[in-house]
Amino acid sequence: MDRSASVGIVGAGLAGSEAALVCASRGIPVTLYEMRPLRMTPAHAGDLPAELVCSNSLKSDCMPSAHALLKKELELLRSPLLECAYSTRLKAGSALAVDRQAFSNAVLARLTGNPAVSIVRREIIEIGPEHPFWVLAAGPLISEALSAWIAGTVGAAALHFYDAIAPIVRADSLDSNKVFFASRWQEGTGDYGNCPFTEEEYGRFYAALVAADALTPRPFEEARFFEGCLPVEVIAGRGRDALRFGPLRPVGLIDPATGKRPFAVGQLRRENSNGDCYNMVGFQTRLRMSEQKRVFRMIPGMERAEFERFGSIHRNTYLNAPDVLSPDLSLRGRSNIFVAGQLCGNEGYTESIATGHFAALMLAARINGIPFSDIPQTCALGAMINKITLSRDDYFAPVGMNLSLFPPLDEDKKKIAKSQKKEAICTRALQDLSGWISHNNITSKPYQ
Ligand SMILES: Cc1cc2nc3c(=O)[nH]c(=O)nc-3n(C[C@H](O)[C@H](O)[C@H](O)COP(=O)(O)OP(=O)(O)OC[C@H]3O[C@@H](n4cnc5c(N)ncnc54)[C@H](O)[C@@H]3O)c2cc1C
Repeated sequence: MDRSASVGIVGAGLAGSEAALVCASRGIPVTLYEMRPLRMTPAHAGDLPAELVCSNSLKSDCMPSAHALLKKELELLRSPLLECAYSTRLKAGSALAVDRQAFSNAVLARLTGNPAVSIVRREIIEIGPEHPFWVLAAGPLISEALSAWIAGTVGAAALHFYDAIAPIVRADSLDSNKVFFASRWQEGTGDYGNCPFTEEEYGRFYAALVAADALTPRPFEEARFFEGCLPVEVIAGRGRDALRFGPLRPVGLIDPATGKRPFAVGQLRRENSNGDCYNMVGFQTRLRMSEQKRVFRMIPGMERAEFERFGSIHRNTYLNAPDVLSPDLSLRGRSNIFVAGQLCGNEGYTESIATGHFAALMLAARINGIPFSDIPQTCALGAMINKITLSRDDYFAPVGMNLSLFPPLDEDKKKIAKSQKKEAICTRALQDLSGWISHNNITSKPYQ
């Protein structure tokens, strides 16, 4: 094997293990560096690769849904880790849940059984000249030394240490008799959806919010929130009117139904160009999902809101990807270094496998001198990479699979029923990805 084209991969987690096996399958020798068990993270329990640190579920594989679609696409790409997941699957309804120990052991067997992969137990503290190419897949709990090296390389402002994710709701689940569209002080084009509260409605909502059940942070997730990104329930905990002077401030907004300024206003910002999904402005939260559904549905106009994504806040080291990554997931200015997994700005187990796979494909194409055509944005993987690398949001939050990421359907399909829309998005995605795979001759080499 040509060692001059070797790749060093940092982290034998989900993304790093997937990237190692994909690179190896394309004839590229890989050294996979893993710091465990010499240095543990606060969440990992052992030294096996691809450890699932919390739930043992890779979410739904029941089509049509965004999560299931991503799995179908990884199947088309013949993802080695997805194969390991299916071979260690447990009964869990529509979820792809696995026996976590058996899953990690299956990944370990693939890695150790592949002559192109060497596993080295070492903490990487900086990226040096040992390999001409690198993949950084050190995860959300990356060691301090390496995260300091990254901050020094891309700039401290391009590295986040916590995520703060606000829920996304579907536009067609909002009550159009209550939600009015306007911008504060009539500035701009009136793109915000506004949920007007009366004083009584606000009082009920406030009481429910402060009493709602929030997730208890783990010891290493001690609350070090940025003032500008506080969980909505923490703001509420500062006093009855704190939200009315914060994310629910009504100033500059007149409800056309009453001709008056509401007592408080919840704002919804467009999440995608289709306008079929809205982000709840300032509603990053640690409430349990069931509580988010119950309490946020008390917001006027959101009584039947359907959530495309729930809010969350975690300790999570990740890059401000749109500022520092190219569409092939390599660092701008250091293009021999690719970034994958949670560190590149995705959120979730399957998503981490997916970006690990994609980074390895792009790296292999670079090394082999055969560039790929752009991945279609209509497929789940392409839509996610697009959001990660090209998002124009003011605050870049990690990207988990959801239907708001996909471009609109063709005009003739826009009027079809919601359930059929999901079906149409999935069908289009699989067709387009299959075309991309065969055009770029991607699965011609078998994985070991
Ligand atoms: C506490 C917690 C719970 C989570 N729960 C879920 C969940 O239930 N469901 C879900 O879908 N997602 C969850 N996530 C989010 C995410 O999906 C997982 O963190 C996922 O494991 C990320 O995959 P990864 O490959 O990017 O990182 P990891 O799987 O964490 O792999 C990174 C690897 O890099 C190693 N490493 C770090 N620094 C170095 C270094 N300097 N040198 C060498 N090795 C290094 C680590 O030891 C680790 O093995 C959770 C995240 C956290 C932090």
